[in-house]
Amino acid sequence: MTIIEKARKGIITDQMRLVAEEENLSPEFIRKGVASGTIAIIRNNKRDIKPLALGEGLRTKVNANIGTSEDIADIKLELEKLEAAVDAKTDAVMDLSTGGDLRSIREQIIKSSPVAVGTVPIYEVSVNKFRSGEGMIRMTPDEIFDTIEAQAEQGVDFMTVHCGVTLSTVERLEQSGRIVDVVSRGGAFLIMWMYYNKKENPLYEYFDRLLEIAHRYDITLSLGDGLRPGGLPDATDRPQVQETIFLGELVKRAREKGVQAIVEGPGHIPINDVAMNVKLEKKLCCNAPFYVLGPLVTDIAAGYDHITAAIGGAIAAAAGADFLCYVTRTEHLSLPDVDAVREGVIAARIAAHAGDIAKGVEGAYEQDLEMSKARHTLDWKKMLSLAIDPKRASELRSAAPPSDDDVCTMCGEYCALKKLGEIRKLKR
Ligand code: SF4
Repeated sequence: MTIIEKARKGIITDQMRLVAEEENLSPEFIRKGVASGTIAIIRNNKRDIKPLALGEGLRTKVNANIGTSEDIADIKLELEKLEAAVDAKTDAVMDLSTGGDLRSIREQIIKSSPVAVGTVPIYEVSVNKFRSGEGMIRMTPDEIFDTIEAQAEQGVDFMTVHCGVTLSTVERLEQSGRIVDVVSRGGAFLIMWMYYNKKENPLYEYFDRLLEIAHRYDITLSLGDGLRPGGLPDATDRPQVQETIFLGELVKRAREKGVQAIVEGPGHIPINDVAMNVKLEKKLCCNAPFYVLGPLVTDIAAGYDHITAAIGGAIAAAAGADFLCYVTRTEHLSLPDVDAVREGVIAARIAAHAGDIAKGVEGAYEQDLEMSKARHTLDWKKMLSLAIDPKRASELRSAAPPSDDDVCTMCGEYCALKKLGEIRKLKR
């Protein structure tokens, strides 16, 4: 039985108890959420890691994408990135490798990761076909499903599958007059295949085959948005919305077969449309947990896209998004290095936490209350320990040590908090 099937039978599993404890919620609340599909507890049944819990009422989680490219394929570097992401408290990582020995890289990432690992299996199928000289347009449905099964057997916990890129959504795309076209690699590979073979996307046509594999390993399907907008002018256009409608139907089919599903979303959205996109996904996809990439609220901040994404991520999380994929400062420019990974995770965590305060997530506001109290009493030890990145906060304080330990070098002896505190003591 999968976790969703157990939840429907009224069984509270150890994983549900663990999530309940972590989130400070009742095990029954978690069980009900899993049974209805509004909460996903992600973990391949071959793995023994802390499960990744996403959904209604839970803390917003963050994901860090790592992985090699054709130009930079260094497993040592990827393991350092994994370590940096985990150290910065990411809740999950995705291995998006396309360079080097993909199977071996994935093996090492899964072995080293204490958090859930996701992949996009169509990358491996496409890269292998490309390397064989046949070209990705010649991949067969069997090769796609065999790769998915092999990755599940390896222990991958969740997989992005672009099942909503169908002949009809592609037709709509062609009529849409989009400016940036398709920016999802998985989406683009599948569209190339569909153009060449004049056939339906195998991930959509044989969705039941995908469900059988997911059921066997109890892995979660992350229904990918292959037609996500790649620029503000394309946001919330007809191809994006039509794909979301398809994904909502597939969420229902997954649930019926006892498989957990989450839905992926944009991408690039103007700030005033972010909340509307979250509500649209929740409505069209039966309140499935929503996983957004950013979203980026402007297209002109290259070099600072971790900030652009954190702005969009905070608004998305406040509106109900459950899982934020980080964006690093190197987005649209190059593969991130270790520092960019660390900074990206912290930026996404800030966004997630800001959203959690607005959503009323258990314990989120209380952390800020504690920080305010520590600031008022000039309790520096506590302030540093409560910071989202205590390491960075300590480094900055030590870099400019104050002459008076009570204050900081911003105002020094004119510290408003200290001066008012002294006067108040005298008044008593
Ligand atoms: S010195 Fe200024 S900035 Fe620093 S703690 Fe006091 S009031 Fe705040």
